[in-house]
Amino acid sequence: MGQLASEQMAKGNGQSLNGQSSAKLKSYAPATGELLGEAPNMGPDEVRAVVERARRAQEAWGALSIEERGERMLRFRDALVDRADEVIDLLSRECGKPRHEALLHELMVVADVITFFAKVAPQALAPREISLHLLKHRRSFLHYSPRGVVGVISPWNYPLQLPLRDVVLALVAGNAAVLKPSEVTPLIALKAKEIWDAAGLPEDVFQVVTGYGPTGAALIDAGIQLCVFTGGVATGKRVAAACGERLIPCVMELGGKAPLIALDDADIERTAQAIVFGGFTNAGQVCISVERVYAHQKVHDRVLDRAVEITRSLRQGDPASDFVDVGAIIFPHQIDVAERHIKDAIEKGAQLKVGGKRREGTGQFFEPTILSGCNHDMTVMTQEIFGPVIPFMEVASEEEALRLANDSHLGLNAYVFTADRDRGHRLAERVQAGSVLVNDVITNGGTPDAPFGGIKQSGFGRVLGEDSLRDMCDVRHISTDRVRMTGKDPLWYPYSETSYGWFKKGLRALFSGGGIVQRIRDIL
Ligand code: NAD
Repeated sequence: MGQLASEQMAKGNGQSLNGQSSAKLKSYAPATGELLGEAPNMGPDEVRAVVERARRAQEAWGALSIEERGERMLRFRDALVDRADEVIDLLSRECGKPRHEALLHELMVVADVITFFAKVAPQALAPREISLHLLKHRRSFLHYSPRGVVGVISPWNYPLQLPLRDVVLALVAGNAAVLKPSEVTPLIALKAKEIWDAAGLPEDVFQVVTGYGPTGAALIDAGIQLCVFTGGVATGKRVAAACGERLIPCVMELGGKAPLIALDDADIERTAQAIVFGGFTNAGQVCISVERVYAHQKVHDRVLDRAVEITRSLRQGDPASDFVDVGAIIFPHQIDVAERHIKDAIEKGAQLKVGGKRREGTGQFFEPTILSGCNHDMTVMTQEIFGPVIPFMEVASEEEALRLANDSHLGLNAYVFTADRDRGHRLAERVQAGSVLVNDVITNGGTPDAPFGGIKQSGFGRVLGEDSLRDMCDVRHISTDRVRMTGKDPLWYPYSETSYGWFKKGLRALFSGGGIVQRIRDIL
């Protein structure tokens, strides 16, 4: 087993972590430690066979009309909704997330994504004519054809929403999809596959390959035409390099370090509520969670105090047995990371305002934590935490907040809070992030209409939004003559001094800076 596989195993829910290869993945409930089930650890030959079956199935799927594919996707949506309780229960157990979040941030988003793309695809993927600005004697058409088999590699934090989002886009566009879910949440992906099959949809068009990192690497090597990867920056670099080796296009949805800027006129209550929800939803294990707060000195203390007060009222526990606000942490490594950041911050002068400890006893829990007095010498302000820890920093001006918000190697989401939405909009335009929300947090992660993705090391390419549907396709340009052409074209052979002279005059006439009179003179 390679080092990569050992690393992946060392993260897996903290169980059977002796670094040895295991025949099967074991999925444990992070809130209780209960063994929920097993899944195969698939090797390269099995993955290749899956991709081959997907390729064959894609031919018939891709030949359906867009409307027919949309109708079948809606059947999948209906089957998911019919089995909502089962899906929510498993999500809550396998990921340790509150049932509200399993419902609203996972299943509801998937249902909406399917509904939206089934509706817009016929128009978004219809062939369209473009007007050529120079070659007016020709007509140009763009056609969007499926690429073939799309490989989707996904993380554990939203184990239904993230993979199915990409699978849905791939399928609506006429591709087959092979999903490699995270090794720590394989069961929910297998549940989605079970529901797909039970709905009578073509089995090989959507398949799941389970395993550790090497199974994902095998998927990239198995002859896919596009890889949509969501995960950490370090893995993303390896995946992008592997795709580069094989000249496969890829979409990279990587880590985040979302800043929240509270301007001097921010509404205290809304800002504090947004910070707490945005920082602690899914126990902070969100690529777009509020990972650092820059609060103007005029509002800093009031926002901080209120955020601490709300945090104290949050209920944390096993989401499968109770309606809690904050659930479990997926595996012990994430708790270690949170503790490391907190220790570093306190050693450098930060104050612990609330939380700060792992919970003793059954399950993996870490208290929702707020730190104040933070600065950019502390790792908590500069590196991804991916846990329930929110560091506050007081700033003296909007410009200081902007400079610090942009002082990051990551750029996925960012948030601005202000009573003046136009001011917020202007500031948002200067924040270096793929998405900036004014007076809101998190919602864009599940908004199918708008593109989602990062800049800097948060990745490249976009998922969601109509363009992402077209990105699932090869764009083909078809050009025809506008009027019947006979004989040779003036651009063809033979070259002569006369034709060269005419083309040179043409260069000046078309592209020199003079006015129309000057241009006519150039031709004559
Ligand atoms: P990860 O990078 O460890 O793993 C992601 C997936 O990649 C897993 O399925 C894993 O098995 C697979 N993988 C590992 N090595 C591979 C390889 N060499 N080739 C192919 N596949 C390989 O990430 P994680 O711990 O599961 O998720 C947390 C990270 O994901 C965080 O950094 C978070 O910010 C990021 N994330 C980003 C987004 C986004 O939309 N930008 C969304 C959610 C999570």
